[in-house]
Amino acid sequence: MTTAHTSADPTAALIAATEEHSAHNYHPLPVVVASAEGAWMTDVAGRRYLDLLAGYSALNFGHGNRRLIDAAKAQLDRVTLTSRAFHHDRFAEFCARLAELCGMEMVLPMNTGAEAVETAVKTARKWGYRVKGVPDGQARIVVAADNFHGRTTTVISFSTDPEARADYGPYTPGFDIVPYGDLAALEAAVGDTTVAVLLEPIQGEAGVLVPPPGYLAGVRELTRARNVLFVADEIQSGLGRTGRTFACEHEGVVPDVYLLGKALGGGVVPVSAVVSSAEVLGVFRPGEHGSTFGGNPLACAVALEVIAMLRGGEIQQRAAELGEHLHHELNLLVGGGAVEAVRGRGLWAGVDIAPAHGTGREISERLMERGVLVKDTHGSTIRIAPPLVVSKEDLDWGLDQLRAVLGA
Ligand SMILES: *Cc1c(COP(=O)(O)O)cnc(C)c1O
Repeated sequence: MTTAHTSADPTAALIAATEEHSAHNYHPLPVVVASAEGAWMTDVAGRRYLDLLAGYSALNFGHGNRRLIDAAKAQLDRVTLTSRAFHHDRFAEFCARLAELCGMEMVLPMNTGAEAVETAVKTARKWGYRVKGVPDGQARIVVAADNFHGRTTTVISFSTDPEARADYGPYTPGFDIVPYGDLAALEAAVGDTTVAVLLEPIQGEAGVLVPPPGYLAGVRELTRARNVLFVADEIQSGLGRTGRTFACEHEGVVPDVYLLGKALGGGVVPVSAVVSSAEVLGVFRPGEHGSTFGGNPLACAVALEVIAMLRGGEIQQRAAELGEHLHHELNLLVGGGAVEAVRGRGLWAGVDIAPAHGTGREISERLMERGVLVKDTHGSTIRIAPPLVVSKEDLDWGLDQLRAVLGA
């Protein structure tokens, strides 16, 4: 209201400037973050917020994680970028350690998740032509409805979300879309020219949808029997979020190809990767695919520290234990009137709010006023995915705020 008040809290002015000078392809909550540590963020007016989104799992290890920041700082002083025109001394170790973590043989590094998915599409097609023997130009990839695999033109070509797709045609052909979790539909869609089945083992953006028991194992069996690559997009579900290194592990499934991103960059730099066997990633020859920044020294240094932290298994164990507690508490709300359903695994939950209690956006805004940041999806769902380093006390405090907002 007064000038003094405005200068003490620049939130409104910064949001107005954002609206004026940036494309409106997001609708952020009205909070302007200035710093963050662990599971907490502080805004420009000094208010603190518990982060229950964790950058869509890019921040699994928390904000300002000491080991990751130190690894980045040390590498910043040595060399940050070489391009793949030359070798650099962190690359071999990064690829070897990541392949080892995945139980695979080879790594193709990129930067963003969408690039990893694009790379997987190209890999599967090339494998289809060179190894499987699919006639040129005929390769098809089966995907699931309500998927989220990123925002590029090809990736949104096989989205079923009208918001993500509209006005971006013509679309890339070669994809068959089946209902998620329906093994019979998947089996019917796999034909002689199918080169891959591409799935999220848990659909994050769709509302943290866990497929029915046996689905992933069924996909594994079917793809093996039909000589089709099983590509698991673990960009959001992987690297500890569900209480295991990979969400596929919950069904004892090892896919042919893992897609990783988000947490692989430790919330510091974008790092993504396609990880697979030598038979599959061996299809590439020099010049056939690449990225200026993919596998750069800074990215490798940070990712190596991420991999080292995952190797011991403590963070996965922590996600499993705290996740069990989270789901226990959330499930107590189901049937109380405010919450219609809770889904998820580990420290990852989709909570469907009863419409009478407000939209997901409204609940998110009310939580923000109480110092908790979450993100809504599909109108009536909120997602809870704190950094895996969150303390039980902080998580419980966040749950208290949720109960208060829901009047539960
Ligand atoms: C976030 C995400 C992507 C895309 O990653 P970007 O880094 O935003 O391009 C792809 N797949 C899944 C499952 C994701 O959650």
